[in-house]
Amino acid sequence: MKGQFAFFKGQIVGIEDAKISVRTHALNYGTGCFEGIRGYWNDEEQQMLVFRLHEHFERMIKSCALLFMDLPYSADDLSRITIDLLRREGYREDAYIRPLAYKSDEMIGVRLHGLKDEISIFATPFGQYVDNEEGARVMVSSWRRVDDNSMPARGKITGTYVNSAFAKSEALMNGYDEAIVLNQNGHVSEGSAENIFIVRDGVIITPPVFDNILEGITRSTVMQLCGERLGMPVQERSIDRSELYGADEVFFTGTGVQIAAVVEIDKRRVGSGRMGPVAAGLRDLYFDVVRGRVPAYRHWCTPVFEPVAVPTPA
Ligand code: PMP
Repeated sequence: MKGQFAFFKGQIVGIEDAKISVRTHALNYGTGCFEGIRGYWNDEEQQMLVFRLHEHFERMIKSCALLFMDLPYSADDLSRITIDLLRREGYREDAYIRPLAYKSDEMIGVRLHGLKDEISIFATPFGQYVDNEEGARVMVSSWRRVDDNSMPARGKITGTYVNSAFAKSEALMNGYDEAIVLNQNGHVSEGSAENIFIVRDGVIITPPVFDNILEGITRSTVMQLCGERLGMPVQERSIDRSELYGADEVFFTGTGVQIAAVVEIDKRRVGSGRMGPVAAGLRDLYFDVVRGRVPAYRHWCTPVFEPVAVPTPA
């Protein structure tokens, strides 16, 4: 099943009317940027909660700036448009939201400046992103992560995702669930579409922002939860490939993958070979947070529908 509507050229239209030309610059040259956002259905409240909506659009506006795109919308405007779209869709299940800003000029010639831009948004019902999210078997990719001085990974640029696609297809076609990608210096960068954390001797470690990662919103959520809820502040430092093999736990974070345990890397068992206690605890906490069940983090969850009045007992 797919969504029935899209925000396209300034208004919400039927999904079949949201079409672009083969001449579109972004289609030919990868000159777009996007976001991936999740909406979680909360059955008790009969409510859809969108997780960290504003932060996703703030990141998107930064990606746009990298590409010399000047959108006529603020993060607040885009959040409101997304809520409108989700109300029209009326989902009563988890959903994925995909905003895309793209160079819409229909001309031949590679450049970024002086071109027209458009933004579209669509949504779709969505469940699990990676198979085996409770125990992924992964490989270190033979492909390297794009470098900040060639294609900045910090911008969520459509063309850059060919780099992720190389790594993901290599992993899947070799029978693994995911890839871990090293950067040009040989340090661990991230997964094909997720950030990575390891646990070594009771310390949670994740690569720093200068190791060519996408600065994930789930990454920052997890870092905050580790510090505030688990009493285990996360260390940001470069990680060697061989540290992966000796780690007690390894897990991925991302909007799509949420929190997924890695149990095997390059045929070597990670820790006990099963999801470890840190990943398991974080997963439970994260699922409560995204469904709006933890009051301290409820501000991260934007409700889509008007609250349903709870009947008062007679
Ligand atoms: N790295 C890459 C390359 C990604 O595509 C994603 C998914 N957006 C992430 C990390 C995780 O980012 P986030 O937690 O913001 O979804």
